[in-house]
Amino acid sequence: MAKPRLKIIPLGGLSEIGKNMMLIEYEDDIIVIDAGLMFPSEEMLGIDLVIPDISYLLEKREKIKGILVTHGHEDHVGALPYLLPQLNVPVYSTKLTRGLISVKLKERKALSGAILKVVPFGEKVTLGKFNIEFFPVCHSIPDSAGLIIGTPIGTIVHSGDFKLDYTPVGGAPTDLSRLAQLGGQGVLLLLSDSTYAELPGYTPSERVVGETLDHVIAEAPGRVIITTFSSLVSRIQQVIDAAARHQRRVFIVGRSMSDTAHMALELGYLNAPDGILARLDELRGMPHNKIVFVTTGSQGEPTSALVRMANRDHRQVHILRGDTVVISATPVPGNEGVVNRTVDNLFRQGAQVLYSGVAQVHVHGHASQEELKLLLNLVKPRFFMPVHGEYRHLTLHAKLAQSVGIPREDIFVLEDGDILEISPQAGKITGKVTSSNVYVDGLSVGDIGSVVLRDRRMLSKDGIVMVIIAVNRQTGKLVGRPDIVSRGFVDTRESMDMLDESRDLVGRVLDHGGTRPADWGFINTKVRDTLHKFYYEQTRRRPMILPFMVKV
Ligand SMILES: [Zn+2]
Ligand SMILES: [Zn+2]
Repeated sequence: MAKPRLKIIPLGGLSEIGKNMMLIEYEDDIIVIDAGLMFPSEEMLGIDLVIPDISYLLEKREKIKGILVTHGHEDHVGALPYLLPQLNVPVYSTKLTRGLISVKLKERKALSGAILKVVPFGEKVTLGKFNIEFFPVCHSIPDSAGLIIGTPIGTIVHSGDFKLDYTPVGGAPTDLSRLAQLGGQGVLLLLSDSTYAELPGYTPSERVVGETLDHVIAEAPGRVIITTFSSLVSRIQQVIDAAARHQRRVFIVGRSMSDTAHMALELGYLNAPDGILARLDELRGMPHNKIVFVTTGSQGEPTSALVRMANRDHRQVHILRGDTVVISATPVPGNEGVVNRTVDNLFRQGAQVLYSGVAQVHVHGHASQEELKLLLNLVKPRFFMPVHGEYRHLTLHAKLAQSVGIPREDIFVLEDGDILEISPQAGKITGKVTSSNVYVDGLSVGDIGSVVLRDRRMLSKDGIVMVIIAVNRQTGKLVGRPDIVSRGFVDTRESMDMLDESRDLVGRVLDHGGTRPADWGFINTKVRDTLHKFYYEQTRRRPMILPFMVKV
């Protein structure tokens, strides 16, 4: 009988940045690492979010022992409100991450029934045949963890999202001594963050941002508005510290930002000296050089407080001439366009805007090449699998691993859905599970498929033409000329003649001496074929054509 094998299956996060989710399976036990979301790319028209496809997990639901969450970023926790109710298993994380998860679940009304367990650093949890220890890593959010996973055939180390910041803000540096110790004992497989495998050298410390924010807050002539991810608790701390040093008060604007800040204050991850935090109703009459706002909107999200302010649509705060706006984040790939428009609008309102590229207002939260090599050298894994990145990041990370001496055949570059099976001696990609995108659009999850997206793309490219055909209920004969209504296709006034001609054309092809009964399938196809051809000849465009029949 074949020996049971350890399977590693990424359901998201490989060959893309976002919706991280990976599962580890051994006999009757499955553990899941992270459950994140991805922001839609520009061609995913009208889609709000993308989450992983968990059909494979749903088939094996009774084997799943738990979900381990490395940290509180959206690309690691964002899918939980949608997936947890379906899986209904306990979620394990560090304390702040647990707080952030409960804020997310509450927002989506998915908190009741959820089992959220805290695992302190250094302690172990046993889930089936796995035992798991969380170890501290430095990242752009406190309480980030990597995982040490004991399996029946050896130890797996998962780096989580990490960098090696020796002077982090509000959190521990990456626990290098624990990693070195593991390296000495022997590690079967290392899974490591590839996000910045393209960048040579070392990632700068979070302190650098603290210094910039301090200068900005000290020198700004008027109000300072700082926008970042609501989950970037350490950045909020840096703002509070700088505001306190320069006798300014801090207003936290926007629901997700203030929910997160309150949770972090309660749990002790955010420290605010008495009297620093202020409520918006205290704003009136306060001198402008005593004010700092912290808000969301760093990604240009249309409903965020910053975008509302930039468009004079916020109830309490408008941008004023003399304001300084700091965008303390880089746009997630795909969001560059909306972020740039927001920056333009802010300048238009008379604000001074500082963003990545003009000032050091953000540093990456991920390790650069030298840090990645150090981790590989400390852990000295038997096998290596790069995770968390586009295909090029994974490939470059694989090359780095080769450069520090890991043989090429022991490095596995996977894509979403691939199954990696490993034994103590060898590893191999043996198959694939479903791993498509699941789209969240408004209240609906998963019922937007590629057909809907194709239609949206078609509509956005060449518009739509509706053809209304009236037929006599008894005789099936055409009544009058067909009507044509178009949107997004041509300027209806300028192209009136062409549209008129197409009405006649439809009338002619449907008129067969007036005796033929109206078969809808026939009319539908005939009208579409005729008009597609005619419009393409006239305009070189392919609008979507929708015939309607009205019986009169
Ligand atoms: Zn992260
Ligand atoms: Zn991440």
